[in-house]
Amino acid sequence: MPELKSLLSDLPSVDEILRSAYGLDWLEKYPRKIVVKAVREVINSHRTAIISGIEPDISTESLIDKIGVELKKLSAFSLRKVINATGVVIHTNLGRSILSESIMQHVQEIACGYSNLEYDIEKGARGKRYSHIQNLITEITGAESSLIVNNNAAAVLICLNTLAKGKDVIVSRGELVEIGGSFRIPDVMISSGAILKEVGTTNKTHIKDYAQAINENTALLLKVHQSNFRIIGFTKSLTLQELVSLGKRFQIPVMFDLGSGCLIDLKPYNISIEPSVQEIIKTGVDIVTFSGDKLLGGPQGGIIAGKKKWIDQISHNPLMRALRIDKMTLSAFEATLRCYFDEESAKNQIPTLQMLLQDIGIIKKRAQKTLLKIKKIKNFSIHDHCEIMIIEDNSQSGGGALPEIEFPTFAVALKPYKKSVNSIEKKLRQCNPPIIARIGDERLIFDMRTVRDNEIELLLKGLIEALQGDD
Ligand SMILES: *Cc1c(COP(=O)(O)O)cnc(C)c1O
Repeated sequence: MPELKSLLSDLPSVDEILRSAYGLDWLEKYPRKIVVKAVREVINSHRTAIISGIEPDISTESLIDKIGVELKKLSAFSLRKVINATGVVIHTNLGRSILSESIMQHVQEIACGYSNLEYDIEKGARGKRYSHIQNLITEITGAESSLIVNNNAAAVLICLNTLAKGKDVIVSRGELVEIGGSFRIPDVMISSGAILKEVGTTNKTHIKDYAQAINENTALLLKVHQSNFRIIGFTKSLTLQELVSLGKRFQIPVMFDLGSGCLIDLKPYNISIEPSVQEIIKTGVDIVTFSGDKLLGGPQGGIIAGKKKWIDQISHNPLMRALRIDKMTLSAFEATLRCYFDEESAKNQIPTLQMLLQDIGIIKKRAQKTLLKIKKIKNFSIHDHCEIMIIEDNSQSGGGALPEIEFPTFAVALKPYKKSVNSIEKKLRQCNPPIIARIGDERLIFDMRTVRDNEIELLLKGLIEALQGDD
């Protein structure tokens, strides 16, 4: 082994690199802190490699290349745009609902300037943050009153804490759900200070199970939407209507954690299992909570809608301040909710609804257009790399909504000749912007439901990179 000492002393110092032509160039382009960090990290990794007996290539070019890569990494945003080719419209890991440009224009105006967030312009006095959307929510849903907090988990928490702290909340064993990312009904119950009273069994809960559990310490009957799973076969659960009747009989409020919450009627699309929020309010339920960024298609938030009596109590809970939403979210909500005055405009202007309900012919055209463009790329023959075709497939809504419903879709599918599907999938994730695709049947599948028209060029660029690059 060459003498460790001489190898180590061959490594340039941070200072030497900073004073080199490359160093000076970087210092002009990037903040000094970042340049120093990148240089130091690359030198350190080389030093570690030398000491551990692996002799790294310490030619100047290799060091410079590595520092260049490191600098790009350090100066890039961590949270950034990706292309969603999974077909899952409300993809929690990819940011759930996306907002339209027109909605963002309003958000930008509010965020980049002062606003009447908590100011009553007519009176010239202090105003209320939630006044901007409270009426919108009640008009659209038919509820008496409403509130909005950080997310649906927060909505459930503050409702339980207000109405049932130290008291019993009755829930069916079939509804003690876990929604990804650690939202579990029994855990939220503990955090809220309410006492969980489970009734029934996993598959069957009868009205008498609830009735027998009710006593003077019962504060609330809670129904939870099963969201991301279904129990099928020998089952029985109460309809919301039955639970509401029971609540009325015993004079105990009934709350429904709806999870996703759809503000339009999906029946014309043959999606009949998910009642709209309007239909749920009509049952006479006391409180319903749902997310802003699932089927509603807005920003992250948790909407609480229901009887004024309870909403007023909740609004005075000190937790309200801890869970409140900011002006950007509020402006995005107002702009999104305004689209719902006209159901057609909601379907066109809210990307989540637009992608879920878009005509299959449009998806097919997008897939065909993409395939044609791939075949026409200059100096690149796709057929040298893979078999490529358009396939019929199914996409999912995601976000814990409509789990058993498959949305027929069209996808571009490719089967590489030389490389593995997994290596291409990985390469696509390393693109800028990263492309997130699906693997199925040993093919790479780009579901064109969730790829936006203005992303097709980026998709092509990424695809060429991934297919041509080294493994
Ligand atoms: C999604 C969901 C939640 C959590 O909502 P967030 O907005 O993610 O906080 C709670 N309950 C149900 C039934 C859900 O589907």
